Amino acid sequence: MIRGSTELVAIVGSPITQVKSPENFNTWFSHHHHDLAMLPIDLQGTALGAFADTLRGWHNLRGCVVTVPYKQALATQVDELSPRAAALGSVNVIRRERDGRLLGDNVDGAGFLAAARQHGFEPSGKSALVVGCGGVGSAIAYALAEAGLGQVTLADACASRTSALADVLGKPFPRLQITTHYHSLEGFDLVVNASPVGMGESAELPLAVELLGTLQPTTLVADVVTSPEITPLLHLARQRGCPVQTGAHMAFAQLGHLGAFMGVTPLEI
Ligand code: NAD
Repeated sequence: MIRGSTELVAIVGSPITQVKSPENFNTWFSHHHHDLAMLPIDLQGTALGAFADTLRGWHNLRGCVVTVPYKQALATQVDELSPRAAALGSVNVIRRERDGRLLGDNVDGAGFLAAARQHGFEPSGKSALVVGCGGVGSAIAYALAEAGLGQVTLADACASRTSALADVLGKPFPRLQITTHYHSLEGFDLVVNASPVGMGESAELPLAVELLGTLQPTTLVADVVTSPEITPLLHLARQRGCPVQTGAHMAFAQLGHLGAFMGVTPLEI
């Protein structure tokens, strides 16, 4: 029940009907008897500037989760960015301070990392292949690097994306080995698809079948795609005996990070 006293958080994107955060957060608020609610907001792009101003003046709003396609655009509208959000040039969560200032962070990578750790993967000194170097792939690579990854191989259908991400990672993580060349999947401790390939009914794989034939059963194979839960990549990886991490694992592990940044849940929920 939303009452006059209820404090609010929001999630903004367009479209918005597909997002799971409102049901996840509202279920958690209700189970824990918190007088809080999350509202889904489907916003037109031309209204983004006015929206940021409205957030500043919205007294009973604690924060706002940001989803596609506004993660980059809203990063330019907030008053302060965390170091990782500044490096990535994107936010997926905004906190409204009591004085109306808006602080932005990006916890996509933290969610991925938390899920990977739940699968026994500890990045320190390890080697990873990140396929898809857009918003989410960049956040994942950044989080892995922050956690001490030794070597990262970057792949994307668009070469400018891999070089842009290599530039983002190079400065803060001088000890990280960064490459874009690979001929086999042997030797990777982690292979992650951070591209949309495999979504829906497509049955597409983000890597060539011959390459996937070189997957070793010790490699954790992860996908960011949430629907289907077991993507063609994860299906094939399971057949090869690999542990797999789904997009739903990552999304769920992120909830506490989003909620904690907005000050409405603990980090672990
Ligand atoms: P984006 O458009 O910023 O990046 C996608 C990248 O994938 C692009 O750089 C594109 O060039 C690359 N790409 C496309 N096809 C490719 C291919 N065949 N091989 C290699 N690279 C290819 O998108 P994004 O915001 O990074 O989102 C990526 C996916 O992550 C989406 O499917 C989104 O739904 C999903 N996502 C999942 C979670 C989660 O918690 N599980 C969170 C956010 C986004």
